[in-house]
Amino acid sequence: MSNQWSALADKALAGQVLERTEAHAVLHAPMEDTLTLLDAAFRVRRAHWGTRVSLHVLQNAKLGACPEDCGFCSQSSKYQSPGGEAPMQTVGELVDGARQAHAARAKRFCMVTATRGPSQRDLDTICDAARQIKAEGMDLELCASLGLLTEAKAQRLAESGVDRFNHNLETSQRHFDQIVSTHSWADRVETVRLAKRAGMDTCVGGIVGLGEGDDDLLDLAFALRELDVDSVPVNFLDARPGTPLAGRPLVEPGYALRALCMFRLVHPRTDLRVAGGREVTLRALQAMALYPANSLFTQGYLTTGGATPQADHQMIRDAGFELELGSGEVVPADPDAVAHLSPARRGASLPVVGGA
Ligand code: SF4
Repeated sequence: MSNQWSALADKALAGQVLERTEAHAVLHAPMEDTLTLLDAAFRVRRAHWGTRVSLHVLQNAKLGACPEDCGFCSQSSKYQSPGGEAPMQTVGELVDGARQAHAARAKRFCMVTATRGPSQRDLDTICDAARQIKAEGMDLELCASLGLLTEAKAQRLAESGVDRFNHNLETSQRHFDQIVSTHSWADRVETVRLAKRAGMDTCVGGIVGLGEGDDDLLDLAFALRELDVDSVPVNFLDARPGTPLAGRPLVEPGYALRALCMFRLVHPRTDLRVAGGREVTLRALQAMALYPANSLFTQGYLTTGGATPQADHQMIRDAGFELELGSGEVVPADPDAVAHLSPARRGASLPVVGGA
């Protein structure tokens, strides 16, 4: 049975696309195959990413009061979720956040706003912050996640030094309208295309555990391959009180690992990130996610803490992996060097998955 997974790794390494039935089988691999499946995914990961792990830091630049109605999100103004609200941060606050991400030895710093799309004023702030962060010469790549873009806004971001734009598709096209009604899956795809056309890398993922079926997760994985995105963050729903998805259970950890392996085998070369919800979903199995995934968020998510940089450095070092910095330089993880960093999050202390 285990040769089945090794054969899929060979196929992915040979540049062939997995059949849908093969990707489906990965999601349903028997529990006793977990290590052989992880080994197959790791062979593919190692061929393209070695044992390097990149850390990403999110900054909630504008919290809550979002007019959109994404059913998983505590930042939507449509729901009574106690996530809080806070206005757009200043350029100085954003630059300070980047300095902290740099101190945590992150590769990327991502500025996120809860919004349908950026206003001109918010865009000015993000662009000014991007220019200042770049001018300081920090060894850090810059991302932004600001909702829907226009062509002109995408160009402004790219020109101001934003390297990558995040805009998740969240789930399959078929399942999307059960989760969001204020914009469409096609709207999201269009923004990804605009970001790409403006010359930015694209970071586009989704959330496992929204009540989707296997076919939805497979549709998402193959749609992202079709879109040729550079980075795929895989979130796991940690249902927020007050949202329509409140009370939905956490994804079972074995399924979460199989989902990550499926994404790796369908996206052999992609920057694959184990994202929001990893701490509560994978619990003691978190280090195992490093075998399919090559990156993770440290310092928590948009409104709450997750693992600290110290804990993540420790996990990376203990598992025998190394850190990749913004420049591509590879250095050992060093929990002692980042022990002083205590992330301050905005808003209520509730974990949030996803963002704009
Ligand atoms: S996911 Fe983004 S667009 Fe949707 S409600 Fe939350 S902040 Fe708004």
